[in-house]
Amino acid sequence: MPSADLAELRDAIVEIGRRLWQRGFVASNDGNISVRVGPDRLLMTPASVSKGFMTPDMMVVTDLDGRVIEGAPGRKPSSEALMHLVAYRERPDIGAVVHSHPPLSTGFAVAGIPLDRAVLAEVVTTLGSIPIADYGTPSTPELAEAVAPLVKAHDGLLLANHGALALGKDLFAAYYKMETIEHFARISLVARMLGRERLLSREEVDRLQGLRDRYGIASPAPVCPDPATMPAGADGDAASCQVVVAPSSPGERLVPDTSVARGVAAAVGTGGEIRLTYAQLTSLSEDVVKEIVQA
Ligand SMILES: [Zn+2]
Repeated sequence: MPSADLAELRDAIVEIGRRLWQRGFVASNDGNISVRVGPDRLLMTPASVSKGFMTPDMMVVTDLDGRVIEGAPGRKPSSEALMHLVAYRERPDIGAVVHSHPPLSTGFAVAGIPLDRAVLAEVVTTLGSIPIADYGTPSTPELAEAVAPLVKAHDGLLLANHGALALGKDLFAAYYKMETIEHFARISLVARMLGRERLLSREEVDRLQGLRDRYGIASPAPVCPDPATMPAGADGDAASCQVVVAPSSPGERLVPDTSVARGVAAAVGTGGEIRLTYAQLTSLSEDVVKEIVQA
């Protein structure tokens, strides 16, 4: 790669690091950014630096096995290089990877709640769903192994009790996906605090998926088929498709979410204590009244 292009990519990493830090997506030396600069070459952030205060000369060039090819004296590649390497290995189509710890997405990752409900058309069209990779100790091969099966079909992931990962065709595409993940987490949290989420119907999700082709939106995998129409025992596999929660409701674009009621049923089933917010209680009562009226 010509050195002018490489210089631009170093500058772009500095800029994206600054945005991650300014938005509070990272604290201290959290997070890492990498970009493909040749068939067997990556440019990535160094270990142990704040992403808000990097300079272009800090970046490290490695091969796809993580060996350092070029870097300023004393600079080592990011401690999460293994996770980046596995993403490039599993996805020859991507050109950049961004990892950070945005507080709302990471909150969902800590709670063990994937961002997989069909709520926002833009998210369904671009990312599909954002599943959670199993917990793996940071900076060990364990984390890379946990991420490997899911990166095949997803451009955005939560990492259990850790943070989020975004993949893109270039640096800014990956960074914008990170912004979308956090924005989606924020909106999902507000809707859940308000006590209800109206979901897009399966039919609307299918329509949105059609838009991917029309607008040339690249996606590593399709949305998984509706579990309700699949044979017993079969299930969508998050390694090959994107699991999106969207109930079938022909003719409807939006449908009510019954997950609050389902959650209570599960809590009663295990004999656990039930705690509901006033909004959840109101929503439940309304649902019960509706069911009685319909019956
Ligand atoms: Zn991390």
